[in-house]
Amino acid sequence: MYKEDISGRVAFISGASAGIGEATAKSLASNGVNLILAARRIDKLENLKNSLEKKYKVKVKIIKIDFSKSEDIVNALNSLEDEWKNIDILINNAGLALNKDIYSNNLLEDALQMIRVNCEGLITATRILLPFILKSEHGHIINIASTAADEAYSGGAIYCATKSFVEMFGDALRIELIDKPVKVTNIKPGLVNTEFSTVRFKGDKGKADNVYKGLEPLLAEDIADNIEYVLTRKSHVQISSMTIMAENQATATMAYRNQ
Ligand code: NAP
Repeated sequence: MYKEDISGRVAFISGASAGIGEATAKSLASNGVNLILAARRIDKLENLKNSLEKKYKVKVKIIKIDFSKSEDIVNALNSLEDEWKNIDILINNAGLALNKDIYSNNLLEDALQMIRVNCEGLITATRILLPFILKSEHGHIINIASTAADEAYSGGAIYCATKSFVEMFGDALRIELIDKPVKVTNIKPGLVNTEFSTVRFKGDKGKADNVYKGLEPLLAEDIADNIEYVLTRKSHVQISSMTIMAENQATATMAYRNQ
């Protein structure tokens, strides 16, 4: 199978302290990609940096950023040193769902936080980093949307809306960048067993475990594997969108559970 050599490129990954972002950092480092990793939990990023630099001899820069605060994103990214401005790949991954209550019962603060991180944070980082990516000969923006972008469900009014926003934003960017060497891919994972459900249910492990009960969910590494595939196609091949489900999952809400 063809695999483009992406070693020496620079990727920025938001939300790299856990789950899909962390797995993607490992996979890209194993391909010789230098990394800028951002999240709030700087201790986790520090450990990841140390292990990736040692194991793969790549350069890793870590930045503590709260993606719910657009001003913090602007300040942090505008103060990147020149040597880190040659960004080729942007992976917009930081995101979350909070709660699964119907909207009339939902906490407004939860709704606003999802919109801040999943939408405002993502477009802010993209706006600041896009001028750098436009200087690359192999630019690539990867947005982590969700199967929730395609299908509304009860309890997901805001989460589904934010992921639909992410998908439309990516699709519009692809049109705007049609004459530039920049690809745009929307990745839409189904059920992935990460900290996602623990965060959604605010630490309630019972509720979080139920999400994956009776089936074999995807792992963060499965999504990272597909991101690696998307990034290593021939230069003229652009994968616009990829939906990845667990074997026993058919839609965002329909899954067969052996229980
Ligand atoms: P996860 O294990 O909870 O990881 C989420 C990452 O986002 C963490 O690194 C977290 O870092 C970061 N993040 C959250 N809020 C942030 C904030 N305010 N500022 C900075 N970083 C923040 O979840 P995951 O499953 O890997 O999720 C990654 C992406 O995949 C999300 O966009 C999610 O919506 C999407 N997705 C997940 C699934 C799934 O089933 N798991 C399915 C479809 C799509 P800190 O906490 O250290 O800040």
